[in-house]
Amino acid sequence: MPTFRLLSYSLNERAPVWPGNPPSAKTEVVQAIARGDAANTTLLHLFSHSGTHIDSPRHFNPAGVSGWQVPIERYIFFHPRIIPVPKPNGGLITLAELEPHRVQLADADLALLLTGWSQYRTSDPARYSQQGPLLHPAAARWLMETFPKLKAVAIDAVSIGAPGYPKESVETHQVLTGVGRTDGRYLLIVEDLRIDPDLHKASRIYALPLLIEGSDGSPCTIVAEFPD
Ligand SMILES: [Zn+2]
Repeated sequence: MPTFRLLSYSLNERAPVWPGNPPSAKTEVVQAIARGDAANTTLLHLFSHSGTHIDSPRHFNPAGVSGWQVPIERYIFFHPRIIPVPKPNGGLITLAELEPHRVQLADADLALLLTGWSQYRTSDPARYSQQGPLLHPAAARWLMETFPKLKAVAIDAVSIGAPGYPKESVETHQVLTGVGRTDGRYLLIVEDLRIDPDLHKASRIYALPLLIEGSDGSPCTIVAEFPD
């Protein structure tokens, strides 16, 4: 029997987010059995870019599609590849650091940037959200142009950008969401993901966002499937 592993963090009010962003989820009681109602119901308040989530092209590309318009097969990955890029002090993930992984990237449909930054998610949440690593725009462009099988890039940090590098963060997102392209190509961006070093052994990774019309991103339940 195959086994399954959850890679998403659960959504809550306290988890670290990009500075200034609302929490990943807040619940508001609508009905409560404890108050005499027949059922418990809650209103869910979500943010499109907090917690484990997927950026759809629309996030930075005015001509880009929203998550609900992305073909469903683009959210299922058969060749996840771990790309180790240790960043104990944050900073830029450069093209030079990705190039040695060209062979792994060649058949990847999901590039998992393993920086190690998630060690701070619980031990130092402020550091996790404020000083994380980011993908250099030139490295993002190289991924887009060199690897046609690639469908998405994921990172074990709050974002593929970082608050201390606003210009690079915007440019990297613009590149990955396909701004200015005429061929319609884009890469999905998975942020705040738990990336275990053995995920290259997964036979599939499922990353299914909420299909909310008009949204530019969505919290996402992400599951790895391992063979017998
Ligand atoms: Zn995002």
